[in-house]
Amino acid sequence: MTKSKLSLVLFAILSVHILNAQTNVKQFTNGIKQKTLKKHIYVLASDSCAGRGIDTEGITIARNYIVKHLHSGSELKPYKSDSFIQPFELIKYGSRQINIESEGHKLYRYNDYIYYGKYDNFNKDLPLIFTGYGTEEDFKNMNVKGKAVFILNNNLRASLSSANRAEKYGAEFCIIANPKVINQFQSFSRQIKSYSTSPSYRLMGKEETPVFLKNFKFDYRYINVSSDVVKRVTSESINYWKKEAKKNNYAKYNKESIGSVKISVNRRERDTVTANNIVAYIPGTDSDEYIVVGAHYDHLGTIDNKIYYGADDNASGTAALIEIAKAFDRAYRSGYKPTKSIIFIAFSAEEGGLCGSKYFVDNFKDINKVRLMLNLDMIGRCDNKHANNCNYIYLNSSHLPDDLKQQCTKTCNKYGLTADYSSNLRGSDSKSFSNKGLTTIFFFTGLHKDYHKPSDTKSKIDYGKVTKVSKIVFETIWNSAGVTKQ
Ligand SMILES: [Zn+2]
Repeated sequence: MTKSKLSLVLFAILSVHILNAQTNVKQFTNGIKQKTLKKHIYVLASDSCAGRGIDTEGITIARNYIVKHLHSGSELKPYKSDSFIQPFELIKYGSRQINIESEGHKLYRYNDYIYYGKYDNFNKDLPLIFTGYGTEEDFKNMNVKGKAVFILNNNLRASLSSANRAEKYGAEFCIIANPKVINQFQSFSRQIKSYSTSPSYRLMGKEETPVFLKNFKFDYRYINVSSDVVKRVTSESINYWKKEAKKNNYAKYNKESIGSVKISVNRRERDTVTANNIVAYIPGTDSDEYIVVGAHYDHLGTIDNKIYYGADDNASGTAALIEIAKAFDRAYRSGYKPTKSIIFIAFSAEEGGLCGSKYFVDNFKDINKVRLMLNLDMIGRCDNKHANNCNYIYLNSSHLPDDLKQQCTKTCNKYGLTADYSSNLRGSDSKSFSNKGLTTIFFFTGLHKDYHKPSDTKSKIDYGKVTKVSKIVFETIWNSAGVTKQ
C-alpha cells in the first residue's frame, strides 16, 4: 500500500469515527434534563444556601451539593489532587465609611464627590483655603499647614499632581474641581462607582488597583467635586473661582478661609478568609491540551437580613455545569473519550472580583495548553432588548477563530437559539482566561431588573432555556475535544 493510500484509509476510518461521534452526541445531550437542572437551581437558590456569600455556611451547603453530584457514581476525577476542592486565600475588607459635611451641608458620595485615600480613623473640622490652580508658586506663598485646600484643575484625571503638592505643603485635605470641563465629574464618578460598590475581596498578594485608578493616590485624603458642590462649600460658583485664579492674587486667602469642611473617615477592617473552587476533570486520551468549562457558584449572600438568591446569577450556570460534567461522564463510561482533557470548574469569589478564576489561571501550570474556555454566567433570563423573542443567547467571545464561531452559531441554531455576539459585557470569569490571550466564550442571557437584587429568584428562571444552553455548551465541547469511540 502506498503512503497516500494508507492516509486515505486512515482518513476514512477517522471520518467514520467522527461521524459516529456526531451521531452519538444526541444520546448524551438527551441525558441533560430540564427537571434535573431545575432541581439543582432550586437547591442552590434556596433559603438554606442564603445567597452563597463567600465564606458563609450557605456556600458550604452549595459546595457540598455540587461535589456530591459530580462525585456520585462517576469517573470524574479531582484534578491532580485527592480533593475536588481548590482552596485559596482572600483579603476581605470591611465597608468604607466616610462622612463629609461643609457649612452644615452633607455631601453625598458619587453625586457630589469622589474620595481617594486612606481609611484611617480621621476626624477633623478644617478651614478651607483657596489656592488657585495649585502651582508650586501658589503654594509657596501660602500657609496651608493643617488646613483644607480648594484647588482648580482642568483635568480631574490629573488630580494626582494637585494632591501631591497639597500634601507636600502640609495641607490635611484637598478638594479639587474642574472649571473647564464641567461634566467631567459626572462621567468619572459613574466609572469609579461601578468599581467601588462591588463586594470587597481581593486575592491574597493581588491587591492590584484597576488601570483607570493607577493615576490616583490612596495614601492621602482628597476628593474631586462636582461644580454644584463648589457653590455649596464656598458660597461662590466655580466660574467666580476661575476668575479669581486668573487675577493670580491669593494673598487675601492666606488670611481668610472661604469655608470649612468636616471630614470623618473610619478605619477599614481587613480580614483573611478562605474560598474554594471546585475542580473536576476527564482525562484526554491523546493530547496534552485542555478545554475548560466554568461557572461561578458564589453570589452576594445575605445583606441587611435579605437573601440575595442569585438564581440566574449564577445558580443557572452552576446547574448547567453539573449536568454537562455528568453527561461527559456518561459518555466516557460508554467509551466516548475526548482526545483533549476537559476540566470542569465551579469558581468561587467571582462576585468579589473574579478571584477564583484568577487563582486558577495563575496556578495552573499548563494554562497555555488551554485551547478553549467556556464560561456560563446568568443563562436563565431574557433581557429588554429581546423582550419579544427570548430565543437568543449572547456569546461574548475573545480570540475566537472564525471556524469555531461559525460552528457555535450553527449549534445554537440547532437548539432554536440565535447566537448574539453584540454584548460587550466581559466582567466574568472568562476574563481571567482571555487576559492570558486564550480563546473564551462567555454564554450569557443578559442583564435584567433583578440583577444583583434579592428578587433574582428561582420562579423567574426560564428552565427550557437553561436546558438548551446546557446542550449547546455540551455539544460545543464535544466538537472541540475530539471525542472518539474507544
Ligand atoms: Zn455572575
